[in-house]
Amino acid sequence: MIDALSRRDFVLSSAAVMPLVRTAVRVGPGSLGAPAVILRPPARPCVVASANGIRGVAKAMDLIVNQSADTLDAVVEAVKIQELDPNDMSVGYGGLPNAEGVVQLDASCMHGPTRRAGAVGALEGIKTPSEVAKCVLKYTNHIMLVGKGAQDFAVQFGFQIENLLTEQARQAWLRWRANLSPDDNYRDIPEGQVFPTPPHGTINCSAINASGEISSVTTTAGLAWKIPGRVGDSPIVGAGLYVDNDVGAAGSTGLGECNIMVCGGFTTVEGLRRGLSPTDACLETLRRAVAMSEARLLDANGRPKYDLQYYAVNKRGEFGSAGLYAGYKFAVHDGREARLADGAYLYERPTGR
Ligand code: ASP
Repeated sequence: MIDALSRRDFVLSSAAVMPLVRTAVRVGPGSLGAPAVILRPPARPCVVASANGIRGVAKAMDLIVNQSADTLDAVVEAVKIQELDPNDMSVGYGGLPNAEGVVQLDASCMHGPTRRAGAVGALEGIKTPSEVAKCVLKYTNHIMLVGKGAQDFAVQFGFQIENLLTEQARQAWLRWRANLSPDDNYRDIPEGQVFPTPPHGTINCSAINASGEISSVTTTAGLAWKIPGRVGDSPIVGAGLYVDNDVGAAGSTGLGECNIMVCGGFTTVEGLRRGLSPTDACLETLRRAVAMSEARLLDANGRPKYDLQYYAVNKRGEFGSAGLYAGYKFAVHDGREARLADGAYLYERPTGR
């Protein structure tokens, strides 16, 4: 457990005014003139994640409910399943590399009860950047470390430097490089797995426990074939994720540049603060993202050529998710079972995309 608040601190922090909770009970020995304490109804434990977090939401819920794990520890353990899985080519070990064939990873996390955040960007050679981000959160006064500094920091905390480029990812990168231009010195390789251009993916996972403590983590290999040094939205607190322990949490997957433009994690949590349901808060942020998109990112109908999704949970343990296009799913465990649910969306997916 990290930095758990004392019971007294928790009751005091719970007393903050929050419009979300309409059923708060006022108690207190008023006749003695002591300050009243607002007690919230208990939250419903819930873990929500992108679809690749289906194993992770089960893991996090088990840790929270059966092992009283801290919510941050639980969500980091959840996403590590994907980071360590060589077949998930969107995150951690086995992630698709940058234009030079080097895997550079981004991650961030937030712990609601202590209001702390940690992040790493363009981290090379460490399989689990989410854990390194957690170390930044726990052991430093900083929020984000990048590149060589992040790697040196990880080594100091006992992480091993390893080759993250799997054979599968290396072959995919070689094919991309060979097929870049018919006029360069690499011969085109027509056969083999063809990725949509450019392939990308991420895992975000947020959790709330029965005491209403909330944490979130986002981790990614970013955009495949990116310019070396490119950092996406995932490690940016307020874009790739955001947590306000009085309100809720939100995170994102999809084209990071478009999410950064609307500070999507923060904007979604602000929607929750104004009383929107998690699904409506996600949809509202998506509309902002479309409105902020440059013309080159939109098709002739003004619809995005990219993908973007948000995932959110509020202080009551209600969850939701929305993406730009129909037909995507997200992972959730609301105390009954881990399942994939249909996300809300703005547009029907055009044929051929
Ligand atoms: N958001 C990630 C990035 O832009 C990629 C993704 O989620 O697909 O780095």
